[in-house]
Amino acid sequence: MRKIKSLRRKFLKLLSLSYLSTLLLPYSPIYSSAKKIINQNLTNEQKKILFNESTERPFSSPLNNENRKGFFHCVNCGAKLFASTSKFDSGTGWPSFTESLPGAFKTKIDYSFGMKRIEYHCSNCGAHHGHVFNDGPGPNGKRFCNNGLCLIFIPKN
Ligand SMILES: [Zn+2]
Repeated sequence: MRKIKSLRRKFLKLLSLSYLSTLLLPYSPIYSSAKKIINQNLTNEQKKILFNESTERPFSSPLNNENRKGFFHCVNCGAKLFASTSKFDSGTGWPSFTESLPGAFKTKIDYSFGMKRIEYHCSNCGAHHGHVFNDGPGPNGKRFCNNGLCLIFIPKN
């Protein structure tokens, strides 16, 4: 029974991934005018995620294995988004956090692919970072599933 529950949980996590969307939808390079490219050195892959709601391949980000103390910042505008103390290993293949710093994000309901998901954007520059789910291990039950390519980690010295 326990095994079935854990499989079910894994399956639900898979469903929650927006990675599939990147396989199903052709990329259209039209960026929302509400979002500004501030960092002129962004790669095309980063622009697709930040301004076109794309998702990086799971287990592709080196930040999955980042366990030092410090802060994660928006790669576009530099805003501080997450403290390392909120990071946890969700097993999904994306950097995951139990909470963001206060006011770091604005959320929007995303109804794509027959699912209702909460998508979040950097409050400062409007760039898309990921989705937030209610199956996190922390006291507020949140799981911020963030694209690693959208983040810059600055270790505390
Ligand atoms: Zn930003």
